[in-house]
Amino acid sequence: MRVHVIGCSGSFAGPRSAASSYLIEHEDEQGRTWRVLMDLGSGAFGPLQNVIDPADLDAVIISHLHPDHYLDITGLEVFWAYHSRDDLGKLPIHAPAPLAERISAVLSRKGDIPDGVHSSPFEHHALSDHHRFSVGPLEIETRAVLHPVEAYGFRITVAGIVLTYSGDSDTCEALDDLARGADLFLCEAGYIEGRDDRFSGVHLTGRRAGECASRAGVGHLALTHIPAWTDPEVPLAEARAVHSGRITMVRPMDILDVS
Ligand SMILES: [Zn+2]
Ligand SMILES: [Zn+2]
Repeated sequence: MRVHVIGCSGSFAGPRSAASSYLIEHEDEQGRTWRVLMDLGSGAFGPLQNVIDPADLDAVIISHLHPDHYLDITGLEVFWAYHSRDDLGKLPIHAPAPLAERISAVLSRKGDIPDGVHSSPFEHHALSDHHRFSVGPLEIETRAVLHPVEAYGFRITVAGIVLTYSGDSDTCEALDDLARGADLFLCEAGYIEGRDDRFSGVHLTGRRAGECASRAGVGHLALTHIPAWTDPEVPLAEARAVHSGRITMVRPMDILDVS
């Protein structure tokens, strides 16, 4: 399994990166490559097309309905609905329940069916806490995490290898559970200790991400979701002060091997 970092800028697209989006790829024993897109935040649909043809996606999973995690689904919808190929079928999207109506609202239409098209291009699946589903050989487990809106973290297992993605979350037991023993823990660190202490229940800091990684005993902590106004060295140093395992800061277009 590998993770392509499509966008990793926290909270909004930055000058060097789109907002959150990660492409997961895994080749099964028959040599078929499975592709799951995890979040598609503002600005991310463009760079995604430098990595794959979006028509090759098998499914999309959306952690929560903040614009920096889902807004470019509107571009993917247009791509899928009006594509010259007529054999695409419906693309499964696993997301918090209001996604379909949010897309329609952004596109100023009443229903889920684009103009001139017979049906919705997407097959919508509502997420819930402790939900399990699979995409080919990839098994995906959700937990509701601590954020101001309905938000999920994901634990994705294939061939005994585990990837955990925090989505957006402050410290919570559910995130510790999701990360337990993960080979790769892709974890947000949107805040800085001290500077952002007036907010709670929203984002982790590098320190809190590192503490979670230590409690969970993860193999590789990859920090992400750093906003444009933050020097990435600060959350990286915070995490290194409290966690002795492997820690990296993701950059756009990185490819992370999970093994
Ligand atoms: Zn975010
Ligand atoms: Zn958020």
